[in-house]
Amino acid sequence: MNIILLGPPGAGKGTQAQMLVDERNMVQLSTGDMLRAAKTSGSEMGKKVAAIMDAGELVTDEIVIGLIEEKLDGEAAGGFIFDGFPRTLAQADALGELLDRKGHSLDAVIELEVNDEVLVGRIVNRAKEAVAAGGTARADDNEESLKIRLMEYYKKTSPLLGYYYAKGNLTSVDGLGEIAEVKAAVAAVLDA
Ligand code: AMP
Repeated sequence: MNIILLGPPGAGKGTQAQMLVDERNMVQLSTGDMLRAAKTSGSEMGKKVAAIMDAGELVTDEIVIGLIEEKLDGEAAGGFIFDGFPRTLAQADALGELLDRKGHSLDAVIELEVNDEVLVGRIVNRAKEAVAAGGTARADDNEESLKIRLMEYYKKTSPLLGYYYAKGNLTSVDGLGEIAEVKAAVAAVLDA
């Protein structure tokens, strides 16, 4: 099964994806993780996207579509989980074409529904926990970037809900419950 996890920053996409990887042999394709790796490696592309990411804005469609295209040739016994991609209508169209071309299907788009106050709380917490564990918070986990990330989500990504609804792919689950509850709701969609 190939699925998209859709939702604003902090909705729990990464957490749910990780459990699907561990338990269902799925392969997580997180463009955010790929871009952070490029940033850390100091590649030309990484340098180009660093400031944009830190500010909380979206990088160009071309860059992320290229990253995903490369990964789709890999093996994924349990299927792919698209996490943080697509984030624009152009990316959604491109993903559809890529999947067609490579002989894959899109089986479900799962929206993790949350509210904005909870999101802000979760992200502030994620930053605090990272620091408490002796690490550093993500460069974009601060209030300023967060506001921009939320605005980018509402302006550019939330139209995908209508897009996938119209295609008959969308299922929304309550993303506000405990991790295990959300996990059960996601499993119910996958096993339906
Ligand atoms: P994430 O880890 O998914 O929250 O992504 C972190 C940052 O990477 C975002 O705020 C964007 O700057 C960039 N990014 C990740 N995925 C995409 C995407 N599909 N399109 C554009 N920018 C992206």
